[in-house]
Amino acid sequence: MYDVAIVGAGPAGSTLARLIAGRYKVLLVDKKDLSTKAGESSPGKCCGGLLAPDAQAMLSKMALGLPKSVLVDPQLFVVRAIDVSRQIERYYQRFYINMDRQRFDRWLLSLVPTDVELRLGWRFKSYQRDKDHFTLRLIKDGQATEESAKILVVADGASSRVRKLALSGRPFPRAYVAIQQWVEADHQLPYFSTVFDPEITDYCCWTIPKEERLIIGAALQPRHQVTDKFELLKTRLKDYGFQFGKVVHRESAFILRPTRPQQISTGTDGIALIGEAGGFISPSSAEGFSYAFKSAIILADVLRETPDDFESRFRRKTRKLRANLLIKNLKSRFIYDPWLRNIVMKTGLQSLQVHKS
Ligand SMILES: Cc1cc2nc3c(=O)[nH]c(=O)nc-3n(C[C@H](O)[C@H](O)[C@H](O)COP(=O)(O)OP(=O)(O)OC[C@H]3O[C@@H](n4cnc5c(N)ncnc54)[C@H](O)[C@@H]3O)c2cc1C
Repeated sequence: MYDVAIVGAGPAGSTLARLIAGRYKVLLVDKKDLSTKAGESSPGKCCGGLLAPDAQAMLSKMALGLPKSVLVDPQLFVVRAIDVSRQIERYYQRFYINMDRQRFDRWLLSLVPTDVELRLGWRFKSYQRDKDHFTLRLIKDGQATEESAKILVVADGASSRVRKLALSGRPFPRAYVAIQQWVEADHQLPYFSTVFDPEITDYCCWTIPKEERLIIGAALQPRHQVTDKFELLKTRLKDYGFQFGKVVHRESAFILRPTRPQQISTGTDGIALIGEAGGFISPSSAEGFSYAFKSAIILADVLRETPDDFESRFRRKTRKLRANLLIKNLKSRFIYDPWLRNIVMKTGLQSLQVHKS
């Protein structure tokens, strides 16, 4: 019997496992096997792989230095914002660490101490609640096994199966379909761009350079002709001077956008939710790493004190983080409301004058 079973070894799950190891007998489960060579060549997560300033601050707070092997060219200092409907564009100074997402997750997992039991390549299917513990049913290559634990931590990301089972009927954050195409680029664009076009989506579209490739991405409203909308984005980008080579890779995933406080869930009755599974992700920028780290650190602090009544203490201690998501929601209105955005972009507030060759 484990003290704590964590489903999902992404940034949230790996961080929690690392921080509570030693104090508890921990099981960490992930359907992907990121620890082996086979895992290295398996398709990575659909992600932009940008470590934003808030997430960089979290690495400082955890006293972690990022290994060079995780970085990809180029490092980014400028964001190009394009408002298609108003035909305005601006450049803003921002510093993002440009990373290979797969290697980032592998690195975080490599920091988990060896006394944490790993079940990698095992998919969580269901659980059963008994008097004082949970029995988890896991599947790998058609083979099933069961594990039991006193506390169940849900860290399985945007499509969380555990959340669906444990909190069915409760409010869920809005889910967008994120599509990314990796295309060959004959020259490197030294900036990350965000595109605003209400005809495509009421949320974000982006391009991110990754070595000799360019990622074109969009978070689209489900059932709103997502393929056509994505093609429209590519057409728009070409109008703004982007050139694309062959499509090398396509990927998609859900991305959550919590728009109301009730959509953020910290758990109940022996279950805790961290990271995107709990709704911890910015509704304005879709930045998720800092929230995955913060929610995992708060739960680790709560559990390290005592497991007693951890559910209500975790809820209380995430109050600031949940309030921060509310503020991001207000910010989101400025960014995504065409009228308000027009005012901000027209003034040129905090924008840069760039000098290109
Ligand atoms: C297209 C896209 C681009 C993004 N770009 C950025 C970005 O540039 N910067 C940023 O900060 N954020 C970005 N995000 C958000 C970010 O990826 C997430 O918010 C972040 O990964 C959340 O971390 P997590 O640990 O909560 O969940 P995840 O990283 O999603 O990890 C969940 C883990 O659970 C595992 N899992 C899922 N289901 C099961 C199951 N049934 N059984 C066992 N294991 C399971 C998965 O394999 C996964 O490893 C992006 C998201 C998308 C979709």
